Amino acid sequence: MESAYVVKDGVAVVSFDNPPVNSLSAVQRKKLHEQILHSAARQEVQAIVVTGGEGPFCGGAEIREFNTPAQKAAPTMPELIEGLDKVDKLLIAAIGGFAYGAGLELAMALHYRIASAYAQLGLPEVKFGFLPGAGGTQRLPRLMPMEHAAPLMLSGVPLGAQQAFDYGLVDHLSHGELLEDALAYVRQLIAARMPLRRTSALPARMASAPPELFATLRADINKRTPGHKGKLSIVDCCEAATTLPFETGREFERARFLKLLATPESKALRYNFFAERQAAKIADVSPDVRPREIRKAAVIGAGTMGAGIAICFASAGIPVALVDAQSEGLERGMATIRGVFDAQVDKGRLTQEARERTLQLVTPTLDFASAVSCVDVIVEAVFERLDLKQQIFRDLDRLAPKGAILATNTSMLDIDQIAAVTQREADVIGMHFFSPAHVMRLLEVVRCANTSDDVLVTVMQLARKLQKTAVLSRVCDGFIGNRMLQRYLQQSLFLLDEGCSIAQIDGAMEKFGMAMGPFAVGDLSGLDIGWSIRKRRYVEQPEMVYSRIADRICEAGRLGQKTGKGWYRYEPGSRKRLPDPEADQILHAYREETGVAQRVVSDDEIVDRLMLALANEGARILDEAVAQRASDIDVVYATGYGFPVTKGGPMHYANTLGLGEVLARIRKYQQGYQGGQWQPSPLLVQLAGQGASFE
Ligand code: NAD
Repeated sequence: MESAYVVKDGVAVVSFDNPPVNSLSAVQRKKLHEQILHSAARQEVQAIVVTGGEGPFCGGAEIREFNTPAQKAAPTMPELIEGLDKVDKLLIAAIGGFAYGAGLELAMALHYRIASAYAQLGLPEVKFGFLPGAGGTQRLPRLMPMEHAAPLMLSGVPLGAQQAFDYGLVDHLSHGELLEDALAYVRQLIAARMPLRRTSALPARMASAPPELFATLRADINKRTPGHKGKLSIVDCCEAATTLPFETGREFERARFLKLLATPESKALRYNFFAERQAAKIADVSPDVRPREIRKAAVIGAGTMGAGIAICFASAGIPVALVDAQSEGLERGMATIRGVFDAQVDKGRLTQEARERTLQLVTPTLDFASAVSCVDVIVEAVFERLDLKQQIFRDLDRLAPKGAILATNTSMLDIDQIAAVTQREADVIGMHFFSPAHVMRLLEVVRCANTSDDVLVTVMQLARKLQKTAVLSRVCDGFIGNRMLQRYLQQSLFLLDEGCSIAQIDGAMEKFGMAMGPFAVGDLSGLDIGWSIRKRRYVEQPEMVYSRIADRICEAGRLGQKTGKGWYRYEPGSRKRLPDPEADQILHAYREETGVAQRVVSDDEIVDRLMLALANEGARILDEAVAQRASDIDVVYATGYGFPVTKGGPMHYANTLGLGEVLARIRKYQQGYQGGQWQPSPLLVQLAGQGASFE
């Protein structure tokens, strides 16, 4: 992996060479360092251009090397970047593609920057729970105004080259061939005898920033992401850039960086990053399997889910027929779709012209036969009834073209039983979207007993096009996410039986970091969904015991927000949950009737029981090979169930506790109320015995 290195007319060109993103691995750092120093020592060299050519400049540090010996190998990132300040030749960054993280920090330590007009420049470290730790927080505000520099680091969202030029981060834009333009620019700099402009010697650009900027930023962080250590440290470092000399500011930044790197939040965020990439890989399918082509789609059922799924296809530029049995259903679905696009226009995310174009890709129709006759994929999203879905799949078997993928969005039904009514089981698969389908990132791709490999590969690839994070599951009751959720909800209800209040349980889980507590979620999605699942399970799985407390709430006509009352009550037109004495009365009566011993339960126990219920069921799912790997389960929870990304996911959480400890706690809960429902999974027992973790 030799970095390319040439000298021409007194200009040395040092190139990154670590595809695909030119990350600054230990090997790459060493090469770059040697070549820069070597060229600087050559008498005939007047200037050094560092570049990745037309491709990416540099994607940043090699994140896989974090907390490994390679991270500490010489030259470390700070040694490489700070060492540049000692070079006494002109240093120019020629940025094509993108410069992210340490890549941009390196570029900022050079004396001038030229970027391709299409390049992106950003410092995404905050997304991993830390901050730019190789001088970035001190150099950026010396190159561009603080009121733009701080938000760039706090959001992690990159800037386009033009904007970076306007702010002063980039000195020159290339609209043609980057290296050619860079060499011409260097000749201009040499001819004009431009000085070695070391960023470390510049003052922070605070000129136009309001004096209360830092206080406002801190207040905003504490409101939106309370106590976010990474973000608060970025603001501290920005402030340090304005008050401390460069060197002291650098030390301040380094200390904060190292502290953040070791936090569990940052470890969990890095874990999630790799978990998502891993989830896209199917372990037992050959990489040679070619996907089928997807040019057109159809969605059957224009309800809540169907409308959202049609939006996903249209937004990805795939023409989609939206079919319903009822014209009112179709009209309602199209009204939802128009409403979503209108809201995107209002928020500036979609132009009016793009709205028209995207909307035209959706063709509403009542004519099932013609809609499905010429498409490559069909997603069925009608009512959750096995007989109805089977009938639709019989029709699809007759009417859909050969080779079309037949997918169902069922939440819980046995897809093998749906596939079995067709003569083409290899083409049948589950595509389980989450509500709202155009917003939620998760897509559970459910592999049936006979789904073919190329159908699997096609749907995983299609998921990316639809901007979804796909996780592979096998068929089982509830697939990965909803199957685990049943255990979580089961424990929430037992906690109510024992005397917890609805608000205490929701509050404890929200303090832990869940986007919403279990009862607030129930009210939002409708309590009748869980009610019908429980009714089915009372018959099919009598060994799974539920508290009947939730049924009592439903029997009182309290189905959640849609009826103005559920676990909470709601004022007309408002989603604000209000405590409701009537619900408390129902709880009270149930506790009296069943005579469950009442006790004070701590918030810690609430969190512990709900988390361990998830992890224990997750372990069964792993054991049965329903999920490919523990990290896939965590991706399901982080992208589809509002699990706090700073905690990784239920399996990562259990690993962090240690599986021996998890098992000991489960054994303790076995002695408590409804202890019979706490059977530790055999895999958990085995791994705990070996001192191992979920993988
Ligand atoms: P919904 O009641 O909002 O919509 C169902 C639509 O299907 C209605 O418009 C209905 O007219 C139409 N329909 C019924 N029979 C039809 C037929 N024979 N041909 C064509 N159209 C027909 O339901 P939904 O909430 O969108 O759920 C649809 C599916 O998605 C279900 O299987 C459900 O389990 C699953 N799902 C729902 C959610 C959710 O949160 N709502 C989440 C994931 C998956």
